[in-house]
Amino acid sequence: MVDTLRRLNPHVAHPFELGGIRVVPGERCDIRVKISEMYTALPVHVPLTIVHGARPGARLFVTAAVHGDEINGVEMIRRIRADIDPKQLRGTILLVAIANPIAFMNQMRELPDGRDLNRCFPGRELGSMASHIAASLFEKIIKRADFGVDLHTAASGRANLPHVRADMRYPQCRRLAAAFGCEVVFDLPAEKGTLRHAATRVGIPTIVYEAGEPLRFQENVIRQGVRGIKNLLSELGMADHPRVAPPFQIVVEDHKWIRAARGGILMMKVEPGRIVRKGEEIATNTKPFGTEMRRLKAPYTGLVVGVTTRPIVLPGSAACHLVRLGRHSKRVAMMIRRQPLVYA
Ligand SMILES: [Zn+2]
Repeated sequence: MVDTLRRLNPHVAHPFELGGIRVVPGERCDIRVKISEMYTALPVHVPLTIVHGARPGARLFVTAAVHGDEINGVEMIRRIRADIDPKQLRGTILLVAIANPIAFMNQMRELPDGRDLNRCFPGRELGSMASHIAASLFEKIIKRADFGVDLHTAASGRANLPHVRADMRYPQCRRLAAAFGCEVVFDLPAEKGTLRHAATRVGIPTIVYEAGEPLRFQENVIRQGVRGIKNLLSELGMADHPRVAPPFQIVVEDHKWIRAARGGILMMKVEPGRIVRKGEEIATNTKPFGTEMRRLKAPYTGLVVGVTTRPIVLPGSAACHLVRLGRHSKRVAMMIRRQPLVYA
């Protein structure tokens, strides 16, 4: 009903209704939205904060912990909730700090049945548990927004330099990706079943902020994410924070994982945010006694955006995610010399 009012008269702030709760303009409200049930038949809720601006404007959803062990975003949302004054806001922010509470309680990426919630969107009411949860989140919360950002970290055993992933074929995704303000943007069509894919397909342009490691709070990663979300609010005309631009921004055209050649030990020589020259050593790969040393070398001059955090490897284990800098090499090297990219 109130969404109809919003369409009919977008220049007036109307109350925001969700799950039987009515939030008046200029107020913030924390509610719990039922998305599933446990074995005990007790309900499973997601915490949702509705920050409803005093004046009308765009609606942005921000989700964290869709993968239950990726918690940097949980802290980003806590800070956004504290920092944004609904009286100064235009439009509405829907903050879902723990989108996958069952996996979060188990400190696991996936649900207990092994399913990945982020391969089940938009979900089906009568599908698997993951599909049912996806459908609840999607129908009740996500579809109420105009734009979205989904906060992730690397998977277990890896560390990612903060970056944005967006499907740059969509002009509004390009706009969000540029505005967020990361130095590195991956132009990646989203995999089917991801929240980013499902939301963008139904007309809610959505990007992913991918940063840091699971099961950790990493201060730099969190600060950059909070800054990025505030940049989005400014870009969408929802808030008046001055936009903070990165010293440079590249849209990745070519990237690859450098992999271990042998089973055994891997000693990494680089960390996320480092530039490596073509032929430079990235890691040494040895047998457990240190014999038969192999050096993994950079196939091109590039920026390290991801590394393994596990020193024990099999042949083919991913060691280092390297972005080719190509024509950007000189400029990016100069900018990083002036202002190093601090990973975490
Ligand atoms: Zn994830």
